[in-house]
Amino acid sequence: MTLPTYADVEAAASRISGHAHRTPVLTSRTLNALTGAEIFLKCENFQRMGAFKFRGAFNALAKFSPEQKRAGVVAFSSGNHAQGIALSAQLLGIPATIVMPHDAPAAKVAATKGYGATVVIYNRYEDDREAIGRQLAQEHGYTLIPPYDHPDVLAGQGTAAKELLEEIGELDYLFVPLGGGGLLSGTALATRALAPNCTLYGVEPEAGNDGQQSFRSGGIVHIDTPKTIADGAQTQHLGEYTFGIIKRDVNDILTVADAQLIEAMRFLATRMKIVTEPTGCLGLAAAIQMKDTLQGKRVGILISGGNVDMERFCSLMSGNASGA
Ligand SMILES: *Cc1c(COP(=O)(O)O)cnc(C)c1O
Repeated sequence: MTLPTYADVEAAASRISGHAHRTPVLTSRTLNALTGAEIFLKCENFQRMGAFKFRGAFNALAKFSPEQKRAGVVAFSSGNHAQGIALSAQLLGIPATIVMPHDAPAAKVAATKGYGATVVIYNRYEDDREAIGRQLAQEHGYTLIPPYDHPDVLAGQGTAAKELLEEIGELDYLFVPLGGGGLLSGTALATRALAPNCTLYGVEPEAGNDGQQSFRSGGIVHIDTPKTIADGAQTQHLGEYTFGIIKRDVNDILTVADAQLIEAMRFLATRMKIVTEPTGCLGLAAAIQMKDTLQGKRVGILISGGNVDMERFCSLMSGNASGA
């Protein structure tokens, strides 16, 4: 297995240029005062379809051969990868079939259908989504694009950190949400090329710390689907490609509790007028948690997405810990 390199992130950046947004890097004096650090938020909640996933999806689909484009793409996803594939497929004229869990947020299912994709529903706690995806691929000749463990997907995700580091220069720390590791591994390739001395952390929900266990034990650890409000990070294990890069290039994996995610969402909404989804706030919650270490440092935080049903957002903001 050959791991992708920073050259693949650069190639992805030119492929998505003019299709993906170059998202803003926002700062807040209140946040700097709260943490004692100089904080730069790379706001992928403002990316097309509302999360960084558009980057990796578009990069992967743009590389399809004419035959692959004609036959179509299939993807399985807890939501944002589905929308990223569906929108990219629509833009590139490729038929898309998306396998989604029964409890995916309604806004994500509706948006995926809105981009013209066919949606197939499975049970998150009973069915094997990878098996369903593989079967559809075999039956119809679709190309399966997984949500994180794919060289083109992770290289595309790395373009967000590339933009951040090119725009604001060296960082002391960078905090990145972690599910299956596509975003973190792509970010690691960009970081080691552009800011080699930066301390890079992946951040997971406490209830699903398989990434932390894997990082610290040196082998990929599998867990049951964790119950957390961070629905974009409910993955059961890292991938072969993503872990290969993460174990080599990342400094550590941290965890935060759901209550800290709600606090971070509330901060972004009230002080910065930014709507984020719980998973999108993993990095910010971890930075606030370890602010004593960050005094006077330049700190980058990837805000990974903003797709949350408004009812759920309001419920979480009004103190309902499950958001139900
Ligand atoms: C998918 C997703 C993540 C996790 O990304 P991985 O590449 O699976 O690690 C984090 N935040 C949001 C908003 C996501 O959609």
